[in-house]
Amino acid sequence: MEKVRVRFAPSPTGPLHLGGVRTALYDYLFAKHNGGDFILRIEDTDTQRYVPGSEEYIMEALEWIGMVPDESPKHGGPYAPYRQSERRDIYDRYTEQILKTDYAYLAFDTPEELDQIRAEFEARGDVFAYNYETRNRLRNSISLPEEEVKKLLEEKTPYVIRFKMPLDRIINLNDIIRGKFSVNTNTLDDKVLVKNDGMPTYHFANIIDDHEMKITHVIRGEEWLPSMALHVLLYEAMGWDAPEFAHLSLILKPEGKGKLSKRDGDKFGFPVFPLNFTDPATGNTSAGYREEGYLPEAFINMVAMLGWSPADNKEIVSMDEMIKEFDLNKVHKAGARFSAEKAKWFNQQYLQLMSNEAILPEFKKVLAENNVEVSDEKALKIIGLMKERATFVKDIYNDGKFFFHAPESFDEKASKKAWSPETAVLMQELTEAISSLDFKAEIIKESIHHLAEAKGLGMGKVMMPLRLSLVGELKGPDVPDLMEMIGKEETISRINKAIETLK
Ligand code: GLU
Repeated sequence: MEKVRVRFAPSPTGPLHLGGVRTALYDYLFAKHNGGDFILRIEDTDTQRYVPGSEEYIMEALEWIGMVPDESPKHGGPYAPYRQSERRDIYDRYTEQILKTDYAYLAFDTPEELDQIRAEFEARGDVFAYNYETRNRLRNSISLPEEEVKKLLEEKTPYVIRFKMPLDRIINLNDIIRGKFSVNTNTLDDKVLVKNDGMPTYHFANIIDDHEMKITHVIRGEEWLPSMALHVLLYEAMGWDAPEFAHLSLILKPEGKGKLSKRDGDKFGFPVFPLNFTDPATGNTSAGYREEGYLPEAFINMVAMLGWSPADNKEIVSMDEMIKEFDLNKVHKAGARFSAEKAKWFNQQYLQLMSNEAILPEFKKVLAENNVEVSDEKALKIIGLMKERATFVKDIYNDGKFFFHAPESFDEKASKKAWSPETAVLMQELTEAISSLDFKAEIIKESIHHLAEAKGLGMGKVMMPLRLSLVGELKGPDVPDLMEMIGKEETISRINKAIETLK
């Protein structure tokens, strides 16, 4: 069997959207599952939509996720170059070839002429298509006498090359995900294959490159499903075997209807891009999963589950397991609804699976950003105490500020609940009781227990105001653990501050 080769072929028109990431992932999983190659090809024939920085962004995103291409503009490979703008000589050869067949013709119509015809059709309530019905009335090498075509060429009149869609043929197609369907060629128009500057359009360059690069499976977004018949006919025109096709459904808005867009992300406050992206034209930065604090493993697990799940419906699946289990036949036909809550859930799950030591470097970065310095030993303990409730590493700091700073105020509701006129005396006694202790959580706990017992109080009656004094609210980890962490001096100073403030 020939080696499986799959390409991800983005156009450098901006950052990768979640849908693009998922396409790349399924390309990658399918290739690796079959022991094949994963190729990155940059489809930059449309210079008008080119956004500088996109290619670097795409490469960085793939690397962050851990999907390093076997061949790409950066890594090179046997079919280089992998940027379409650098493959012009290859396309020129095939342009010559297709012109010798009956599948292509020259069209001299100017954009203005076509605009005018389009307007005439619209005025009649019709939609214009350059096709079998209209091509004979337009200015092309099919409708014009040979002499005139020759003259136009001698005069260097600009022209495009169009595909001559065969008349009234039923094209039977098979999509791995969607199954069999057919298209009548009369519903299709004569697409431009080569622009008037000699550069091929997406359709032509795409099939040339897939053929040249020996691509066996084309896995891409469903927006390309309507082009599949044209592509299959282009392979026929060139006398080549077509690859197999699989078109992936959309990723839907959180409410379930319509395609997930950047606007949904802005509206609901979640990123739709893997990494931050600053638009060079406007200077606006869009949020990325990486910068929001997502772990790449959690992010890609979440993306994978938008449209596929392994046989036993397990949700937490590593890249290696995904490679082992991935099956295009199990990819859902229906669109997958995006959930920001689910994305967070995945990160939370992955964070719990990490050891405290593995979290430490990232946690230290967060601490440094907040100008906090603690020993590794202390940081590890804090991670241990806070991890369970954290979704992101930054939560360990944000929800655990009391480890580093005394409370600036005491929550009103909590104070009402935890503090009564007698509490000040009780807390005073507590500071005395703990002042001579060896400050270890176990010993502290015992001492609080003794005090409560001696006063005939439940543990809660002591713990609650104590927690309020140390944290400013009624949350946080086990109080004795916290006391050990911040130390005796700081503990007593916070209790005294609470006594002073709350009376
Ligand atoms: N350049 C196309 C895109 O960005 C690729 C489509 C395909 O994979 O054939 O969507």
